[in-house]
Amino acid sequence: MNLVERSDKVLSRVLSHFTTLEIDHGAGAYLYGLDGKAYLDFASGIAVTATGHCHPEVVHAVLEQTKKIIHNCAGVTYISANIELAEKLQKIVPIKDARFFLTQSGSEAVEGALKAAKYVSGKSGVITLQGEFHGRTMGALSVTAKKAYRDGYGELMPHSFIAEAELDAVARLNDGNIAAVIIELVKGEGGYAARDKDFVQKLREYCAQNKIYFIVDEVQSGFGRTGKMFACEWYGLEPDIMALAKGIASGFPLGAVVLKKEISDAWKTSAHGGTYTGNPVACAAGSATVDILQREMPRMVAKIKTVEEACDKLLAQYPQIFLKRQGLGYMIGLVCVSGAVCAELRQRALASGLLLISSGAAGEVVRLAYPITATITELEKGFAIIAQAAGEM
Ligand code: PMP
Repeated sequence: MNLVERSDKVLSRVLSHFTTLEIDHGAGAYLYGLDGKAYLDFASGIAVTATGHCHPEVVHAVLEQTKKIIHNCAGVTYISANIELAEKLQKIVPIKDARFFLTQSGSEAVEGALKAAKYVSGKSGVITLQGEFHGRTMGALSVTAKKAYRDGYGELMPHSFIAEAELDAVARLNDGNIAAVIIELVKGEGGYAARDKDFVQKLREYCAQNKIYFIVDEVQSGFGRTGKMFACEWYGLEPDIMALAKGIASGFPLGAVVLKKEISDAWKTSAHGGTYTGNPVACAAGSATVDILQREMPRMVAKIKTVEEACDKLLAQYPQIFLKRQGLGYMIGLVCVSGAVCAELRQRALASGLLLISSGAAGEVVRLAYPITATITELEKGFAIIAQAAGEM
């Protein structure tokens, strides 16, 4: 029996799969299949392994931490690993003098962000925008727009709304009981499409004027994905609260709720918690990841140029396959003419040694989630495979 067959006998089919690729291990920008082939990885999990697979510094940090201690319940005893990570994060996040609550996933970071906003404001409502994805747990799902993900679960979190991306639409929903607006600056599951800068600035101002917390979900766009450490930097934006995860720890399950100090101070002790918050091994991976990504940032200008030029070449050469490119900096979505065409392109690319994933309403967007640390040569190689696959179609 192969892994697909074995999986089917024990694991729930509720999880959908992009491919049937069976892998053995990974190193850098490559995955190594049980078929003995190497696959260039432009998926990075789903935009998770920012430093590539098994970066030696991450592996070293994790092994050293594992030898010392694996679990520390932060609510029972203190340890340096989670504090060290938060100290590093405090220097790089777009919220000044921020405080952190560490989680195990992006959904939990969103849950924490929503809970903090509700608790501290004393209001209940939450507004998000069409096309946004914030996670699968009940609170996060309540601010996830996609009908297919919400259907079948009955009533979700009361007083949660999905607005069109217009200031008027948001303002119409403001009944005086809105705790927060939560947005993605670059929609991840929504096709790597960036929000309009002017709209974001106006929305941010509206929230500040109306005492509505402005939550930015950078679970997917954070940690170098856009070519800057956070997408907020492109927008010149300081949110009240942020949700982080994915790239934060190169694949270890870790996330963070980032809070303005005054919000954190008003979120009273015991109002939130968690057994595994700030797991030391995950935090060691996180600290190493932040160091690696900070070193990588000066190289991103050249890499953004490489990927933009490669995309534009594909657009010019294969207009029957690609409609346009969208996104922000390094975080680019290549929009195909249809979901079916995108699926065929991905399948052909995989056969030629390149793993691609899609997003967008109909799976029509190739979301280019190469590692942040991919070299220009690796990027060029990946785009050459995309061009070859497009040429075959
Ligand atoms: N927010 C955003 C923007 C995401 O892209 C995701 C994951 N795709 C989540 C939240 C949820 O993260 P997780 O799957 O780790 O719960």
